[in-house]
Amino acid sequence: MNDKLDRRRFLKTSAQGVAIAGIAGTAGGFPSIFAQISNKTNPSEWIAGVIREYTATSPRNSLKKTDDEEKWAAEKAWDEPLVGFASGGDTIFNEYKDKVGLFHWTPAEVFSLAFPDTPASPEDLTVIAWILPAREMVRASLRKETKNPAEPWVRARMYGELFNEDLRRYVADMLTKSGYPAVAPTLFKEFKTHQSEKYGFASTWSERHAAYAAGLGTFGLCDALITPKGKAMRCGAVVAKMPATPTPRPYTDHHAYCLHYAKGACGACIARCAGKAITAAGHDKMACIKQLGVTTQYAKEHYGIDGYGCGFCQTGTPCESRIPV
Ligand code: SF4
Ligand code: SF4
Repeated sequence: MNDKLDRRRFLKTSAQGVAIAGIAGTAGGFPSIFAQISNKTNPSEWIAGVIREYTATSPRNSLKKTDDEEKWAAEKAWDEPLVGFASGGDTIFNEYKDKVGLFHWTPAEVFSLAFPDTPASPEDLTVIAWILPAREMVRASLRKETKNPAEPWVRARMYGELFNEDLRRYVADMLTKSGYPAVAPTLFKEFKTHQSEKYGFASTWSERHAAYAAGLGTFGLCDALITPKGKAMRCGAVVAKMPATPTPRPYTDHHAYCLHYAKGACGACIARCAGKAITAAGHDKMACIKQLGVTTQYAKEHYGIDGYGCGFCQTGTPCESRIPV
């Protein structure tokens, strides 16, 4: 590569606040020399750019299962991600232990399990969280339905989530290779599901709670996270030993963006829920899981897909693609 050209490109892109690593530094999964400079001067801006660029350019961000599914390969699963940051020293992660269960990791706990020989105080750590908003085409496909899931929605839930797994791996890898040891908690070998006394089915790391901590949204009546791009989305998170300025949380109430809690109105997700799993009292996780089983059967019989996807509560509602309050 021509050094002069690369340098010009680096300076131009940096000036636009876009991470060069995602553009020039991804060959073989290793960051370029310019990415090294960029990630040292402004690591949070750099990694946000890496996440956006990977989502924009990866052929895995699609509704396809295999490369020969041309029709689906041309359809992306996700729009441009939102990215936020929380300090590993944020006391909210200790509150999650009270709220979710003692088994829920703090960033420091999962980091020390993944990197036992790398000392780090909670404040040395950053939680990087992202939201992958579902595309309009995918949302519209389910919005039209009232009973059974639409194929694009099921494909986004299954194959789009495989891309999200790639993204978690890629981000953790990119950070670690750039000198910021990082772990994706939900891919970590010790990640487990648990029964929470208060919340029933729960796990050692909740990416929705990480996104809440990183200023990306609040919870709705149906338990999904309502973000500035709505709640038809998937989220992801990585914990890294990396400095970053936390993203401000523009809320103090964990239900601030839901019309039901904020204004005593709406309840559209109650009417949309195909499994009668939502009432004015909240979300019944077991009824929801049962309904996912129904969609598994439907997806197999009608689309030949081994998977599931419900999400009626995430579409055809005022919070589908925006904050409704
Ligand atoms: S549909 Fe209405 S009640 Fe349900 S989560 Fe969205 S805003 Fe809240
Ligand atoms: S995922 Fe389906 S069953 Fe579960 S709450 Fe949403 S609409 Fe109801």
